[in-house]
Amino acid sequence: MTLPNAPIDIIALAKDLRAGSRAALARAITLIESRRGDHQAAARELVQALLPDTGTAIRVGITGSPGVGKSTTIDVLGMFLIERGHKVAVLAVDPSSARTGGSILADKTRMARLSASDHAYIRPSPASGTLGGVAAKTREAMLLCEAAGFDVVLVETVGILQGIKKGLVELADMIAVNKADGDNIKRANLAAAEYRGALHILNPRSEHWHPPVLTYSALIGTGIAELWQKIIDHRTAMNASGEFAARRRQQQVKWMWSMLEQRMLARLRADPAIRSGVKKIEAEVADGRVTPALAAEQIAEMLK
Ligand code: GDP
Repeated sequence: MTLPNAPIDIIALAKDLRAGSRAALARAITLIESRRGDHQAAARELVQALLPDTGTAIRVGITGSPGVGKSTTIDVLGMFLIERGHKVAVLAVDPSSARTGGSILADKTRMARLSASDHAYIRPSPASGTLGGVAAKTREAMLLCEAAGFDVVLVETVGILQGIKKGLVELADMIAVNKADGDNIKRANLAAAEYRGALHILNPRSEHWHPPVLTYSALIGTGIAELWQKIIDHRTAMNASGEFAARRRQQQVKWMWSMLEQRMLARLRADPAIRSGVKKIEAEVADGRVTPALAAEQIAEMLK
């Protein structure tokens, strides 16, 4: 989608978006993804204006290696939720899309039923630039979806590396093993037992929540209701202990810092004089002529 060259009427866009217009939502997300300076300024204004309408949705991050059944799961879970009166937004972040052009996640045949529903909104988040950059755009897209009335936001990311996967077990609020059907049931149960073992030796992230391990089948739909119930249980436990509010506050501040870091880095890269200075210092660090600490100091001086 392309945006007009004329200045964007933020008030009108915010109004249409709040009224639940999917066209307005699509335009707004395109605006936050735009690299143009005036678009970015307009996007900041828009997100700020919509901030009071955000924050109440259930946000669920879903990750797993390619082929585990993420899109099948989202399709089934999404339809399950829509049948119960929810409006479901799906943001699909593909870290490899800088190379593939986002072809994996933009494929309309993924989540076929959900993409046909008026109560769902599916949007691939293209990965351009840094990973942090992707995350910032996705976070803002998530806020826009919430303001547009989507009360469940599913954020899908492709987990690829073993290392990331290992780290994720520590971060996960829940582990769900898919494909517990037919000949696969035994294998799924074994995998679940392994995860339980792994979680058992880790310190739980919260004293109010021990990440459950479930098995389910997206193909035949068994275990989907239980999966959703666990997500609700998690939210309830986090709310009751005050951890939910505390985590949201921390998240907001963390996002501020990551955006600031990004802007500082963007400045380093945008100014040709600074860029060539940094390159020179970088070479000196690589050759062992200047210490990293002194180099960082010199670069910080340039930014003044
Ligand atoms: P993704 O790459 O993680 O999004 O995985 P997909 O949703 O595209 O699924 C990969 C393959 O696994 C497809 O052929 C699906 O039909 C199959 N699949 C997904 N869920 C299940 C399941 O619950 N049981 C079985 N047996 N196959 C499944």
